[in-house]
Amino acid sequence: MSHYQLKDGVAVIVLDNPPVNALALALRLRLADAVHSALNDPEANAVVLTGAGRGFCGGGDITEFDLPALSQAPTLMALFSLIERSPKPVVAALHGNALGGGLELALACHARVAQSKTQVGLPEVHLGLVPGAGGTQRLPRLVGPELALNLVLQGRTCSAQSLSESGLFDRLTDAAPLDSAVQLARELAAEVARGRSLKRAGELTPKLPNAQAFFAYARATAKAQSRGLPAPVACVDCVEYSVTLPFQEGLDREFDTFWRLRGTPEFAGLRHAFLAERKASEVAGLPTEAKPRPVERTVVIGGGTMGSGIAMSLANAGLPVTMIEREQPALDRGLASVRDTYLGALKKGRLSEQQFEQRVALINGALDYEAVKEADLVIEAVFEDLDIKRQVFEQLDAAARPGALLATNTSMLDVNRIAAFTNRPEDVIGLHFFSPAHVMKLLEVVRGERTSPAVLATAMNLARRIGKTAVVSGVCEGFIGNRMLQPYLMQAGLLLDEGALPHQIDRAIEKWGMAMGPFRVSDMAGNDLGAKIREQRLAEQPDLVYSRSFDTIVAIGRSGQKVGRGWYDYVPGQRAPVPSEEVIAAVVAESERLGLKRRAISDEEIVDRLLLALVNEGAKILEEGIAQRASDVDVVYTAGYGFPRWRGGPMFEADQRGLGDVLATMQRFSDGPAYQRCADFWRPAGLLCRLAGQGQSFATFNHSELS
Ligand code: NAD
Repeated sequence: MSHYQLKDGVAVIVLDNPPVNALALALRLRLADAVHSALNDPEANAVVLTGAGRGFCGGGDITEFDLPALSQAPTLMALFSLIERSPKPVVAALHGNALGGGLELALACHARVAQSKTQVGLPEVHLGLVPGAGGTQRLPRLVGPELALNLVLQGRTCSAQSLSESGLFDRLTDAAPLDSAVQLARELAAEVARGRSLKRAGELTPKLPNAQAFFAYARATAKAQSRGLPAPVACVDCVEYSVTLPFQEGLDREFDTFWRLRGTPEFAGLRHAFLAERKASEVAGLPTEAKPRPVERTVVIGGGTMGSGIAMSLANAGLPVTMIEREQPALDRGLASVRDTYLGALKKGRLSEQQFEQRVALINGALDYEAVKEADLVIEAVFEDLDIKRQVFEQLDAAARPGALLATNTSMLDVNRIAAFTNRPEDVIGLHFFSPAHVMKLLEVVRGERTSPAVLATAMNLARRIGKTAVVSGVCEGFIGNRMLQPYLMQAGLLLDEGALPHQIDRAIEKWGMAMGPFRVSDMAGNDLGAKIREQRLAEQPDLVYSRSFDTIVAIGRSGQKVGRGWYDYVPGQRAPVPSEEVIAAVVAESERLGLKRRAISDEEIVDRLLLALVNEGAKILEEGIAQRASDVDVVYTAGYGFPRWRGGPMFEADQRGLGDVLATMQRFSDGPAYQRCADFWRPAGLLCRLAGQGQSFATFNHSELS
């Protein structure tokens, strides 16, 4: 787990705990042993710490954060203090990454040598924490409180090169840093022998004129931007301690803060979201021989909203793309939209001139299928119409080489039917990107009945390469995310009928943490689009219960933001949507038509009904095996639907409430107005009843139990 060897009078200690050299208890014990050995070794004049594998150290072991192991000796704090106080120089040799506790370890060393591209940062705030092992006390002493606060508060990861002027690194190198670190360690040992003292971060005094005003401003800004989350303000407090308190006292206060935050529900939710994303990339039951196929040449069919976004996602990862359209004007529009987006990024300084040129050059256009012949991957993003998809997939089947991946970006259509348009259904898969595709992190990877394991493995690999958070979904209407959205929107409508107004519903759920309420989302997506989906569903399910206000809104021309009117009015130059008297009148008229006496509905009821609508459908999705695990459902909602990450996701939130409580609340709601009863809306999923009955949670659910 950690090796010790002597090199030119320098003890080289290697952190070795794959995959990221996390500072779990076992590694801490070995590291402490190795440091003691070095200190006692008369042959060793100095020490170098380095990481095995791809990086120096990814930080503390997050799975240990609620276990006794976290506080078992040697703690990070004690270990770092041992290193900092060492009379022999200790140099950190950084490559790959040094994040969180990994960077804190480097800060405790007397010098740091980094490979220029090493990614460094203190991302704890994204987990609802502050760095807990000296990061907020040592970093300000080394780079100044302003830069330190910026890094701690943003939780930003950046290259060592970009911090070259900060004073954080003693040497930067393009080569592997070990030799340079050993060299520096020997130089420092020679200086110590000559009586010079070592540079210990804890002994420095951070300087900041107007510190009080600076931190007051930073605190106010953090408070305004953090939507009630405690960690950002705590980050400001801790960095302020580095300026106002003696070092040891600052360390103690930082640790107390870390410990307190570790007990908050926000930390629990954020940690769940983090671990759930990591887990989602693992596909259960994928045979080991399912090797991902190489993907180098790609084609996107359709250059509309999604086609251009997908093309950019691929080009952003360096993949060449051919965008194929049906006619020249559409192709011109698609390529122009790509260029405009990149131009916007260039103007904002998000792309360099060189990156801009490279990315634009990676995307070509065509009106024929010539490029399909050479492609390793084709992603179809034409109109949402099964007949058009049929034509496209028949053409693809005829043109593509054997083994090429044929993917569809359909939102609602049956991937198995689309696969059946080809003679190679095993090579067909759904890649459901979200709009705007080059920005949104989520990618639902839709596994058809016949999709081969190798194709699935290739899609997961591609997702990683293009920086998407992939979740595997089985085939069903709307897959995981959009299927759950239907009952959620349905509840929003029923709440209107019973007495709530659109802005009240949006405000309640937004206050709870959702990025946007259902009516603002509908206005953004286009209410006409919702009407089209409803029309299809009504054809299959004529007794569908839903609020007729959804139809009225479309009938009176309120298609949404694109026409300046929807559930709200949109005033040019004004960002906030304005509640509309016309909509309110229509909603009230609908309640009258139904013979319902409108009542005051509490924010709590609004939130519970919307949330539990998601939970119940999520449980069905899980039971049917559409999602592999409950945490995958959570990832879909936090990464793609604006569900508050700090609440973990709908299934995690249900677990936190307790499934018995969830069930009882649903039971209470099932007593709604008579016209809704036939919808059988609140009939709980079988899985939910079973888990609640056994006192279990979604987190403990495993599919093997069902068989
Ligand atoms: P869009 O109308 O913006 O673009 C569709 C494009 O396909 C048009 O440019 C059209 O010219 C082109 N096209 C039509 N037939 C073609 C053919 N035979 N060959 C080549 N090009 C052809 O639609 P969109 O919003 O980009 O949606 C595309 C697909 O992505 C749909 O299946 C949709 O359901 C899905 N989707 C959309 C969103 C979204 O938010 N818009 C999100 C996820 C998935």
